[in-house]
Amino acid sequence: MSDPGEGWREELAELIADTAEHLRFFQELGVVTLDPPAPRAAAPQGEETPVKRMEARSPLPLVEEAGAGEVGETLEEIRRDLGACQRCKLWSTRTQLVFGEGNPQARLMFVGEGPGADEDASGRPFVGRAGQLLTRMIEAIGFQRDEVYIANVVKSRPPGNRAPERDEVEACLPFLRRQIAAIRPKLIVTLGNPATQALLDSKVGITRLRGTFHAYPASSEILVLPTYHPAYLLRSPDKKVEAWEDLKKVRDYFQSSDRSTSPSS
Ligand code: URA
Repeated sequence: MSDPGEGWREELAELIADTAEHLRFFQELGVVTLDPPAPRAAAPQGEETPVKRMEARSPLPLVEEAGAGEVGETLEEIRRDLGACQRCKLWSTRTQLVFGEGNPQARLMFVGEGPGADEDASGRPFVGRAGQLLTRMIEAIGFQRDEVYIANVVKSRPPGNRAPERDEVEACLPFLRRQIAAIRPKLIVTLGNPATQALLDSKVGITRLRGTFHAYPASSEILVLPTYHPAYLLRSPDKKVEAWEDLKKVRDYFQSSDRSTSPSS
């Protein structure tokens, strides 16, 4: 007969390994104390989250201008419409198109700038070193990677990992906006300058925009919180403390909105 205590031991060992991994990540982020989330009174969502609204610039295409963009369309339909995309020059140098992945009903979405070499090879977003850091950032705020949705502003790799150019963003952004309209997340975390500026249609830099909630221009029900790109954090580890401050706001936002919608509140 098997020892009933054995399963426990395995679970405990897993839990300890998991906790150790989390602690390593917190150390990596430069976190010194693990302060609990700020207590917040339950209140209807939106009332207590200060939200900034951007002044519209020369607008990039919104959902309605993105081709089909029909209300209620699915991610599969959007992927089909994208096809073997040749709408900008990036198609000629890419290996695989990287559409995005995750929970099609995610409450939380992460948007990066564009696939790198590892993503181009695998067809999946954020799987290289920056992706591994992103996964740990997601887990540090209490989500699993497969609970959220991860996408990029452009779906084909810019050669040499350069930033996507405006014509490339213009060609691809409508598809990202359609993905957002299909998923209808509560909050989008934009990673770095290109993602933040494209989604907020702004020229303001990430250093000024990070860590504050912004209204997503195409839907007042969706918030955007910009933070640093994980690749930048790998190059500039001293910025991890600020990124952790931003991530705590994401964690607190969901904890307080969960509290305000729980039946006992
Ligand atoms: N950097 C990004 O912006 N996106 C990826 O998918 C990978 C690295």
